[in-house]
Amino acid sequence: MRTISAAVFREVGTPFRIESVQLADPGPGEVLVKMQAAGVCHSDWHLVTGATKVPSLTVPGHEGAGIVEAVGPGVSQVRVGDLVALNWAPYCGLCECCLDNLPALCQEYLKQKWAGTLLDGTTRLSQNGTPVYHFTATACFAEYTVVPECCAVPLPADTPPAIAAVLGCAVTTGVGAVLNKARVAPGDSVAVFGCGGVGLCTILGAVAAGAGRIVAVDVSEEKLAFAHLLGATETSLSPVLEKRVDFAFECVGLPELQRHAFDAIKPGGMAVFAGITPTDSLTSLPGAAWTRQEKTVAGTYYGTAHPRRDFPRFAELWRQGRLPLEKLLTRTYELGQIETAYADLVGGAVGRGMIVF
Ligand SMILES: [Zn+2]
Ligand SMILES: [Zn+2]
Repeated sequence: MRTISAAVFREVGTPFRIESVQLADPGPGEVLVKMQAAGVCHSDWHLVTGATKVPSLTVPGHEGAGIVEAVGPGVSQVRVGDLVALNWAPYCGLCECCLDNLPALCQEYLKQKWAGTLLDGTTRLSQNGTPVYHFTATACFAEYTVVPECCAVPLPADTPPAIAAVLGCAVTTGVGAVLNKARVAPGDSVAVFGCGGVGLCTILGAVAAGAGRIVAVDVSEEKLAFAHLLGATETSLSPVLEKRVDFAFECVGLPELQRHAFDAIKPGGMAVFAGITPTDSLTSLPGAAWTRQEKTVAGTYYGTAHPRRDFPRFAELWRQGRLPLEKLLTRTYELGQIETAYADLVGGAVGRGMIVF
């Protein structure tokens, strides 16, 4: 048991605050990680808006990297001293989805994940004897975290921590959508709707895939200018595109924007929905065009990735200069500046903010 500083979510409408909490030693199949970097991702902010419901108190943070400081009994895939990036989708390895190499779709631990516990249904976090919950089994806006072994993915030791961290969410989601789901080929034309973290990584993925036209779509001129720096060949403030594309990626999670993505693809093209829509939302698409133009509509979750395969694969593309992830990292903060970090995100700052420890 150790006392650590962590960002804490208390109630909807109240920003994260730094508090002291207690963290127990890792149990069987668990890993203690000393955090080095944690990305400021929109998904954590959904706790504050109430769009994602979690118990009070919860430690947020799901895009992180750090050094393994201790391992619990039975851990075999991770060693003390390893640099690991965190995977926010714990998987069992044995169910139909896992056997199909789609571990992000594993249903086995969904209950624990959204209840805010680790896989055995209990928490390692507490405050003065009261349980404190782990957001998506990662809880990495904290000096240390304890995660299930499957949520700690080793990377080459010389990977910079901020690069390792961003691989754990935005990069895998965006680049995976392009390489794993759409399988964009050299010369293909692409449109990306929404230029937040995932959209920007989708653009980087399209560049890495050798796409031809890459159209960035957003309502913010500033975000479009940044998308252009990352490799977008055209930008559009309007979601209605003049010239259609082979692949359209919706990276926000808005039904109207999904419709625009559908309309933006050529006959035979593919619309890929990567943004998470609100739980009860419905999307309306024109059935006639869908059939007669043989359009494909595909969902992708966490980049259709296998973390243990894809985190190292994308890290290697970064090493070769084919995924210039450092261009994404525009701002750094200390953990104590978490309120500022989220105020900047919500205020529309471009690129990725990163908490460094
Ligand atoms: Zn599974
Ligand atoms: Zn995220």
